[in-house]
Amino acid sequence: MTMTHFGPTKLDATLIPKIARQWGTPVYLHDQEYIENSCQQLLSMPNPYGLHVRYAMKANSDRTVLRVVTNKGLDLDCSSLDEAARAHAAGIPYSRMMLTTQEVPTGAERAELEEMIRAGLKYNVCSMQQFQLVADFARKNKVDLSIRVHPGAAGGGESATRDTGSEYSCFGVHLNDVPTVKALADEKGLRFTQVHVHIGSGGDPEKWRENIDRELGFVKAYFPDATTVSFGGGLKVARMPGEKQADIASLGAYAKQRIEEFKAATGRELQMEIEPGTFVVANSGHIVTRIIDKKLTNEMNFLIVDGGMELLTRPLLYGSEHPIAIVRQDGTLLSSEYDQKPTTGLKSFGIVGRCCESGDSVRLDKEGNIVPVLIVEPEIGDYVVIGGTGAYSESMSPENYNSHRKPGAVMKTRNGELVLIRKKQVREQLVQNELDVKL
Ligand SMILES: *Cc1c(COP(=O)(O)O)cnc(C)c1O
Repeated sequence: MTMTHFGPTKLDATLIPKIARQWGTPVYLHDQEYIENSCQQLLSMPNPYGLHVRYAMKANSDRTVLRVVTNKGLDLDCSSLDEAARAHAAGIPYSRMMLTTQEVPTGAERAELEEMIRAGLKYNVCSMQQFQLVADFARKNKVDLSIRVHPGAAGGGESATRDTGSEYSCFGVHLNDVPTVKALADEKGLRFTQVHVHIGSGGDPEKWRENIDRELGFVKAYFPDATTVSFGGGLKVARMPGEKQADIASLGAYAKQRIEEFKAATGRELQMEIEPGTFVVANSGHIVTRIIDKKLTNEMNFLIVDGGMELLTRPLLYGSEHPIAIVRQDGTLLSSEYDQKPTTGLKSFGIVGRCCESGDSVRLDKEGNIVPVLIVEPEIGDYVVIGGTGAYSESMSPENYNSHRKPGAVMKTRNGELVLIRKKQVREQLVQNELDVKL
């Protein structure tokens, strides 16, 4: 069988052994064309009076990824001061960033934040405390603010750990506190020109629609100065066959209609903003691992591969599923879950990594038990490729656990070249900040 592609991104399986030979395994792999296409799709989202797309850079904060995304015309949403500084170091001006953070910077960091805001960074007020600390500075410098509102209603997360709207999450100024913050802002002559709600990641598109209605409701009630309304990120991608991807055109059409109705009722033309992370990069990514061992217990066949939870923690954290492809050392695709091929001759294997952790597997159920994957049986030395790993993989993994070194990353460029965009850590980096102290 010589299938030529698998996974959400069309990727030639014959590339896998080439990549492995050149840079070793495990290694992250990205696809420029995929990222650019998803940016294009987002920029084409229907809207009535203008659309601004920010990439939520915590999904993947690598400088090459940031450059690909911003060159396509997306701006950034940063989740921390360090993220903003990191994007700036990649050459992106602060004027293209918004900061949406739980942090409350003090001291030197506070000074740094003020410098960023002066350079054009949009500050998204996420709590009463943040507002009180930024208010005088904003007034003195005539800076308009954005406000993140906690809608006080169940959000749109794919799991409780990714729901940022419910009473059990604490992101943003709670709707109950909005009148107080608004009154304080009026007193100081400060304007909220942007209102922002992000209800969570990867949830039901119906919740996204409900949020549009709710958010426009409180823009109308409390924010007469708002010219931009941000509906956040959380657009779902389909990683596994059978999963449904968010329909950008239909969500956009809905938002457009609602914003037009808002105009009819108020005379105000609102700019629309979205800030997806997952949607931009998730399916551009693969992790290439090599099978280093096979074991058999009474219950299960195991493949041990050279990368697991320290590269991709989503299965352990959320029970997320990622499609698996098995590639032979000669580049033949043996089986691919994404294509669901072949359908016969499959055998079940638990696929585990190298960490001393029973949950170190790419497929787990909600209780954390390993779920076997149906594949064509490979040999030791063949490759297990994990798809849908462009988002929240290298940016959120518990790297260096078991003192495994963070792997390198390769970008397949638009013209098909393979380029190393990040080197694998060297051993010295595992201990570089440790001090030799005499106790
Ligand atoms: C994480 C995050 C996003 C992006 O969420 P995705 O599910 O990756 O699209 C957007 N906005 C904020 C405020 C976030 O914290």
